[in-house]
Amino acid sequence: MYENQTSMHHKLFIIGAGAAGLMAAVTASDMGIDTAILESNDRIGKKILMTGDGRCNITNESTVTDTDEAAALSRKYHSNQPEFPLAVVQQYGVGQTIDFFSFLGLPLTRLKGGLMYPMSLQAAAVLDIFQLALEDRNVPVYLKNKVVDVTASADHPRFTIKCLTETEEEVVYTSDYLLLSTGGNTGPNAGKEPPGYTLAERLGHTLIEPFPAIVQLKLQYPNMRALSSIKSQGQAHIIVKGKVIGSEQGELAFTDYGITGPPILQLSRKAAYHLARGEQVKLSVDLTPGRTEEELIDFLEKLWETFGHRTVADSLVGIFNKKLVTVLLKETGLDQQPQLLCQNLPPKTKENFYRLLKRWEFKVTDTNGFTNAQVTAGGIDTSELTRGTLESKLVPGLYLAGEVMDVDGDFGGYNLQWAWSSGYVAAMAIAKSIQ
Ligand SMILES: Cc1cc2nc3c(=O)[nH]c(=O)nc-3n(C[C@H](O)[C@H](O)[C@H](O)COP(=O)(O)OP(=O)(O)OC[C@H]3O[C@@H](n4cnc5c(N)ncnc54)[C@H](O)[C@@H]3O)c2cc1C
Repeated sequence: MYENQTSMHHKLFIIGAGAAGLMAAVTASDMGIDTAILESNDRIGKKILMTGDGRCNITNESTVTDTDEAAALSRKYHSNQPEFPLAVVQQYGVGQTIDFFSFLGLPLTRLKGGLMYPMSLQAAAVLDIFQLALEDRNVPVYLKNKVVDVTASADHPRFTIKCLTETEEEVVYTSDYLLLSTGGNTGPNAGKEPPGYTLAERLGHTLIEPFPAIVQLKLQYPNMRALSSIKSQGQAHIIVKGKVIGSEQGELAFTDYGITGPPILQLSRKAAYHLARGEQVKLSVDLTPGRTEEELIDFLEKLWETFGHRTVADSLVGIFNKKLVTVLLKETGLDQQPQLLCQNLPPKTKENFYRLLKRWEFKVTDTNGFTNAQVTAGGIDTSELTRGTLESKLVPGLYLAGEVMDVDGDFGGYNLQWAWSSGYVAAMAIAKSIQ
């Protein structure tokens, strides 16, 4: 690895050694292109370490078996140009990604739901394998080089890239091709540095207002503390203007500020989109998704008939989370009558119980923000890029890859897949352009 050179020219400079930039660097180098990477951090792929709870959910194989794979894939990616991502993920998909990592020496393993991970279940292995791949190919990586400005000209060299090193020393690099893979605006450092969008904007590109996605939701509820740490299987529905706009089922986890869990992370994009537009968003939770409302009523009626001599709290032992029962009793006013027996439960109180268990509604006040989000929705406008090559329509020789553009994927490996696919497609398009 090289650090802090004073001036350097390469055919292709890649800005950002994240998932997309690393994939592009290996691919471009294998296509014989003189490639180098500029990275502001002191090591490559720092964000990859955080992914998949430290295990790195590299991709997701579940769409591959779908009879209409294209339609299934389309539903997993989001952009203002809905067809834009498909032209990329169809060129380089899950199968190629699995083969690519195997080719680098990193076999993958499949877990529940088609989620693919490195066989060692360690995200660090992904970084190590890229490190080795770059060394094998002698790809220079200029670490601690934060790109602060890029200019494009019609003459050779086309791009002038100004960097600041750790010691604030200015370094200028030049290249004929430039790949911008500076990522989105999420993670612990969100908001601390101007995101890479500004570089694309300086070159004339438009930013579609970013918002956080795959993120926990903040709820308005007077007794959030009491719900905090309760986990339950459930179905979550997002409601906007009285209409259910998305539903997901799985483990829900209440926190002291709101709610998380795979169904919430999956639905958060829809909630965030409408919140960003100033609309009212509600979350309705079904805590007994395995039973219809009629079945639930039937079950509880029979339970309370059989154990009519018990208090309501005692009748629910082992059926619902104990902490949840305490909150349910408070919500229905039964905490004021702790000795009330099931046989004396008023019908109105029973109805309230059923409603809370099947349709407990909360106002969603906000998301948990960019710092806690896994991906940024929005980004550089894809209508300014050529579909299928990712080249800028405004600046010849400029390409984009990864989260920096207005494409985001669902929870479950789709964002890293976007990074791999777009990194590969952009590098191959650059190779074709050079030839
Ligand atoms: C906590 C967490 C968990 C996640 N888990 C998963 C998961 O399991 N599966 C999944 O598919 N996705 C996951 N994601 C999302 C996924 O990590 C990202 O979508 C993906 O890493 C984006 O890759 P990228 O290369 O576009 O950007 P990044 O990985 O963000 O890389 C961008 C790189 O550019 C560098 N850079 C930025 N600006 C400059 C500059 N001006 N000069 C020089 N360098 C610069 C940055 O330092 C960074 O190294 C997770 C995200 C988070 C935050």
